[in-house]
Parts: sequence; structure tokens; C-alpha cells
Amino acid sequence: MEAVLVLNANFEPLNVCNMHRALGLMLTEKATLILDGRGFVRTAQNSFPRPSVIRLHKMVHRPRPSVRLARKEILRRDGYTCQYCGRQMGDLTIDHVIPRHLGGPHAWLNVVAACPQCNHRKGGRRIEEAGMHLLHRPVEPPASAEYIYAHHLQENQEWQQFLSGW
Ligand SMILES: [Zn+2]
Repeated sequence: MEAVLVLNANFEPLNVCNMHRALGLMLTEKATLILDGRGFVRTAQNSFPRPSVIRLHKMVHRPRPSVRLARKEILRRDGYTCQYCGRQMGDLTIDHVIPRHLGGPHAWLNVVAACPQCNHRKGGRRIEEAGMHLLHRPVEPPASAEYIYAHHLQENQEWQQFLSGW
């Protein structure tokens, strides 16, 4: 499925949609083609360039984007590395630095990637109680467009110029 980058009226990256949705927005004149280069869609009467980037005509107002606090985003922030022992592995778990039953929030500053062994060793304790150490202090990841859309860039390098700076 081909992804299409949707820009707001002010050129801020807004979201990513599929080709079908992008063509619909263009045909109903809600969006304009900004970048093509993916060949053409042909119908009986017409042919349209297949979009890579489109821009909405009307400004969509929304809060400043942030990175969703989700397991895969926590692992990505932590470089798929256990934040206690430094091992890189596939089946990492999420650890609450201050355990939830001790009032630790489910928030960026209190979650880290941990291997099952370290998570088990730490148990329901605080770091100090378990005699463990964090490799890095957890931070909220940058909410830049380049960070948020990084996983699309490999297949859509032409988006780089539209993402940088936002
Ligand atoms: Zn570990």
C-alpha cells in the first residue's frame, strides 16, 4: 500500500494516508498535488499523476503533535536496548522505573525498555532497592516531523524536504 504524505495548508506535515484517500481528496478539490513521480492512475477517460505528497486547501487546526506513548515507540526511543543491562534484543518488555503500585505514572519519564531478565530481577521495586542502574535517564522523544515519520522515510526519501524543520 502506497503511503501519501498529507500537508496542512501551511505545509506542516499533518498525517499519512493511502493512495485511494489521497486521490479522493484531490478529485473533490480538497487537496492539491505537491509531488508526484510515481506514474499515473488511468481511468477510461483520464489519467492522473499518482501523488506522493499532497496539500490540503483548508487549514486543519490541531494540537501540536507528540509521539504516542506506545510500546513500539518506547522501544524505538531506547534504541531497542535494555536500559539496565544494555542488551539489544527482540523481546524487550516495558518497565516502570517507579513501579505503578508505588504511584509511578505511565509517562515518558517513567518508562524504559527492559529485557525480561532485568524486569524480573527488578520486580516491583524501585531501582535503588533492586541495586540496579539506568543507562540513560528517560526523556520524552522529540515531536519533530522527522522523528514522527522516520519509519516512512526509508521508502519515501523524497519526503525529507517536507519533514525537515517541522
Ligand atoms: Zn537487561
